[in-house]
Amino acid sequence: MAWPIEPTNEQRVTLGAELIEFLNAFIEDRGTAPASSGEPTPGLIEELMAPPPDGGIDLGVLLQMFSQSLDTGFDTASGRMFSYIPTGGLYSAALGNLLASGTNRWSGGAHAAPGAVAIEQGVVSWMVNLFGMPAGSSGILVSGGSVATLTAVVAARHRLGEKFSDGTIYTSDRAHHSLIKAARIAGISEQRIRLIPSDSRQRMDVTRLREAISEDLASGLRPMMVMPTAGTTDTGAIDPLKECAEVASEVGAWLHVDAAYGGFFQLTERGRSSLAGIEQADSITVDAHKSLMMPFGLGGLLVRDPQALIEAHSGRGVYMRDVSEGSLPHYLEMGPELTRPFRGLPIWLALNLHGVSQFREVLDRMLDLTLVALERLESMDNIELIGPPELSILAFRSSQGNEATQRILDSVNATKEIHLSSTEIDNKIWIRLALLSHRTHEAQVDRAMQLIEKANRG
Ligand SMILES: *Cc1c(COP(=O)(O)O)cnc(C)c1O
Repeated sequence: MAWPIEPTNEQRVTLGAELIEFLNAFIEDRGTAPASSGEPTPGLIEELMAPPPDGGIDLGVLLQMFSQSLDTGFDTASGRMFSYIPTGGLYSAALGNLLASGTNRWSGGAHAAPGAVAIEQGVVSWMVNLFGMPAGSSGILVSGGSVATLTAVVAARHRLGEKFSDGTIYTSDRAHHSLIKAARIAGISEQRIRLIPSDSRQRMDVTRLREAISEDLASGLRPMMVMPTAGTTDTGAIDPLKECAEVASEVGAWLHVDAAYGGFFQLTERGRSSLAGIEQADSITVDAHKSLMMPFGLGGLLVRDPQALIEAHSGRGVYMRDVSEGSLPHYLEMGPELTRPFRGLPIWLALNLHGVSQFREVLDRMLDLTLVALERLESMDNIELIGPPELSILAFRSSQGNEATQRILDSVNATKEIHLSSTEIDNKIWIRLALLSHRTHEAQVDRAMQLIEKANRG
């Protein structure tokens, strides 16, 4: 029998219990489950892609299919996934998402859901204060770092007026590709993007930045944005934020800091000292689904001048004449979305339920464990490091060359017990070990080190 489209209370209890039981079993398994799976079993992809029937399918069958889908790829919820940027997906925030979807308030305009907007704006204000941005700063929660950066680029571009083809953007050659993608989507020619070389520690070389800006000014171009990264995806490097702020302010460029990965290390004492200068940004990209361990879809853009966002994104239809003005923001005019999920709720629930100190403790643990891993890697023969780490990413390689490095990566990943990824800098392959999951403890890091050591011995 197909489930009715509006279940009875009794049915809701049953349905909810089955789903939560499934989820709880999944979380329970994360301690022992492999960090990655093999290729999907034959026929699975086709089965998962099947169109829905007219009649409905048994919940057990659907959960079984979903379960099989989880046995593919690598497991981003695992505490043993050290590839890319790990993100745990807090259980409390997942339930917050359920609550947000189930109550389905429309948080696009303050007039429609002042309570929801107040909850969300409280989260935004907390972030703005965390980064030490001045009073009056605000922001908007968006789907992730890519959209946050796009929103910032559109605002900075808007300041140049309709004719912006002389506007230039400066970021480092180690910046995340989403910055260049954002510029392209915003209609900025690649000819106007300067990838400033990095120094030996993968940080933007500010002398080269100054040179590039001088050259552009001499050719009559307008420096539009300086975009340093606070924690690169490759190696966790932090560009010189204070110097970048100084340069940006000298030439009147918009300073955008990409802190998608590194941002919430600001909660820790060490992180705050590494990120000093970030408070001078005109805008900051943060990703709660990275360094706040939230489920995917929760990023944010923090801005010093919310009016700049509004000028670039406002627009009303006649059918919106009832949208009234008050003290709470209308997110619909601060970013690209009109209808949007209530992103504030999962973050608000998790932060308030656990308290901020537990987030600080997880991030401090990541910094500590990175140092543990560093020491272990340093003690291995023929292993070179890009170091020292600034946050919680280590990059290492075999001094025997790319082939040997690739061999270590492949043989560690073949165990499926842990998962690592790699990057390439100056034609050299580097293996990345990124720590950022609340499910990662010393035991998982220790196991990773054992497997790396074994693979390195060959
Ligand atoms: C992940 C990441 C991004 C992109 O964020 P999404 O949330 O994946 O869109 C941007 N910059 C850096 C440094 C990142 O690590």
